Amino acid sequence: MFDFALSEAGKKAKYEAREFAAGIDKKYLIDMDNNVIQWPKEFLQEAARRNLLGPMCKPENGGRGLSWVDYQAILEEIGGLGYICSCTYGVGAGLVPYALEAHGTQYLQDRYIKPVLKGEKFSAECLTEPRGGSDFFGAAATAEDKGEYFLLNGDKRFIVGGEGADYFFVYARTNLDPQAPPHECITAFMVERDFGGVETAYIYDLMGCNGGGAARVTFRDVKVPKENVIGEVHQAYDVFNTMMVPERLGTAMMTIGTASAALDVATRYTMQRKQFGKVISRYQGVSFQIAEAAMLLDVARASCNLTARLCDQAQPLDFVRRQISQTKKFTTEACQKVAQLSMQVMGGIGYTKIYPVERYVRELGLASIWTGTSEVMSLIIASEWYKEQKLKIKNRQGERDWEDDANNIDALDEKVYE
Ligand SMILES: Cc1cc2nc3c(=O)[nH]c(=O)nc-3n(C[C@H](O)[C@H](O)[C@H](O)COP(=O)(O)OP(=O)(O)OC[C@H]3O[C@@H](n4cnc5c(N)ncnc54)[C@H](O)[C@@H]3O)c2cc1C
Repeated sequence: MFDFALSEAGKKAKYEAREFAAGIDKKYLIDMDNNVIQWPKEFLQEAARRNLLGPMCKPENGGRGLSWVDYQAILEEIGGLGYICSCTYGVGAGLVPYALEAHGTQYLQDRYIKPVLKGEKFSAECLTEPRGGSDFFGAAATAEDKGEYFLLNGDKRFIVGGEGADYFFVYARTNLDPQAPPHECITAFMVERDFGGVETAYIYDLMGCNGGGAARVTFRDVKVPKENVIGEVHQAYDVFNTMMVPERLGTAMMTIGTASAALDVATRYTMQRKQFGKVISRYQGVSFQIAEAAMLLDVARASCNLTARLCDQAQPLDFVRRQISQTKKFTTEACQKVAQLSMQVMGGIGYTKIYPVERYVRELGLASIWTGTSEVMSLIIASEWYKEQKLKIKNRQGERDWEDDANNIDALDEKVYE
């Protein structure tokens, strides 16, 4: 849909991603769904072989230096395999290198990005803990400064790719003073499994999105060298803020390919299935549901594209924060609806494993939960909106005041606010 907006390199990458996706054996996807494959190493290695991992990374780090607009097209191709494929693809090779390029030293970039993009090593992002994921500042994992290293202890859960990861991007509390301001307490680290004391367990048996290595990760007395701090000590809030872009915009973009696959399967079904002597696409009760899904999908694509353009323009994060949150909430919920409508128009067979649509519905359930729930997105949208409005009211000059465009504007006694 947005091919016109892609760079030449982006178009090339999109068609390479299409070819890559077409070559993945369907049995592999089904084995992932059934937990026969717990973590898709071969899938990631094949993407690496085609130089498709981390395509937004700088060429000197092994990436292609593509834009957000280009990345959206690639994620859509890979999302057609199912949501967990795009999640696994996006987390290890997209998120962690993104954080390192934005906040990591040259040493960290050299040590951790290239092996990941080559598919020799794998990475995962560890934010969520058993005590909660929505409250970033509530992190209970600790990393005590022991002079030559930090001693890391704590548990993280639901970590996509955790089961196979060699490298973990971890947030932990370093300022243990309970009186310290929350945004000056947490530090981000790169932790290697080989440091010792790192355990992973594939235990969740998820509703969908199986096979992506979502694991409980335990750190026990892990000695993390000081040079493995990402950004500044106690200042991980800056890193977390940057990471909102790839986590939330990426998550939104990943849903589109999967929802699009659902709609594609359902549309074809409605063009062939007959009831009461007619193909069911001739009933408005059916075709209007398809129309609703097509509309939602394209508006979601457009929302992602607009946000992608804003991010490509390197607009300050304050400016795009609301846009990113809106895009995440709208797109993920819209894509869930698309998958649900696709299943509905297929009747009973849509609810079976004869078609892949039920898998898409189960997988997309995750989209509005992870990387910040829809409720957390609403919190951000509301707070940013009111901030913007306060500024607008303060700076109002020579603009029309719409409130005055009413017949009985002079009835001031009726404008009661308390
Ligand atoms: C399959 C899967 C993969 C995941 N992958 C990763 C990963 O790779 N790395 C990682 O770090 N995490 C990952 N997560 C964790 C995910 O990001 C969290 O589950 C999510 O952020 C919500 O945190 P929680 O589960 O602790 O829910 P909670 O934070 O306990 O929230 C519970 C409910 O309360 C609501 N809520 C919380 N606070 C507020 C508030 N202030 N106002 C209104 N409502 C509120 C939430 O919206 C939610 O509905 C994954 C999760 C799953 C299920």
